[in-house]
Amino acid sequence: MYVYINDGIVPASDAKISVFDHGFLYGDGVYETMRAYDGVVFMIEEHIKRLFRSASMIRLDIARDAGSVRTAIYRTLSANSLKSAYMRLTVSRGYGPVGLDPELCKKPTFIIIAEEFREYPETYYENGIRVIIAETRRNLTTAINPQIKSLNFLNNILAKVEAKEKGAYEAFMLNASGHLTEGTISNLFFVKDDILCTPSVECGILDGITRAIVIDLAARNGITVREGRFTQDELYRASEVFITNTTAEVMSACRVDNVDFMIGDVSGLLLKEYRKEVDAYVKEKRGESPSLRE
Ligand code: PMP
Repeated sequence: MYVYINDGIVPASDAKISVFDHGFLYGDGVYETMRAYDGVVFMIEEHIKRLFRSASMIRLDIARDAGSVRTAIYRTLSANSLKSAYMRLTVSRGYGPVGLDPELCKKPTFIIIAEEFREYPETYYENGIRVIIAETRRNLTTAINPQIKSLNFLNNILAKVEAKEKGAYEAFMLNASGHLTEGTISNLFFVKDDILCTPSVECGILDGITRAIVIDLAARNGITVREGRFTQDELYRASEVFITNTTAEVMSACRVDNVDFMIGDVSGLLLKEYRKEVDAYVKEKRGESPSLRE
């Protein structure tokens, strides 16, 4: 396995960072998770755009432009001879003396990992996953805005620990005013009275790239979508619940806390449409990626 670190690709065993890296010391940095299908990184431009947005929200200068980030992503994919991959791009504040001041770090640390994509168990799609509503509240937008995809992930990890302790796969978090926000690694959707509902960005969520596609697909398929503020009681009364993210795509929940749900028609349709969208994207981009032109 090969890893892209700072200015080039090295064997994974040589990909090392300093113990003084502020990403390690303080969780000071940002990241993106991407998925490659058949040698094409799905929605790469949107991921790069969000990476730059996250970086700018923490005043982190990535010290390279979008084009060179794109090239680095494809170089990592091809160095590992991967077609179907999980990719993680991390940018930390970099190496510097101990202390919170970002100016202590002169150069960001830039890392890309690519691994063979491990499919989720088919039962997750066929039977649905179990979810809880966590006691842990989602970060306030005025504390660490969830729109920053930051290395500071303890908020989500604490909710994930709760899920695991209760035998669930995912945990939905409420915000400080008790409205639904999102999962630890996913956005949440539910269907109620034939309307597809999802918490709005103002509730304190990461505006997922998959979420945006699903909203668009729903609208194109004649499904009414409502982005807004919702309570957990509204979710318990839903006919279907599902999560979205880059790796899981659209995945239904069979249970949230003590309430059971069916794998409904809307989630089935949206998963099918999402996969069609991926196929069309991959076909369109094939032959255009920098890795193939290099
Ligand atoms: N919310 C959180 C907290 C996440 O970590 C993720 C995964 N990146 C998402 C939502 C979904 O985002 P996307 O669809 O862009 O993967």
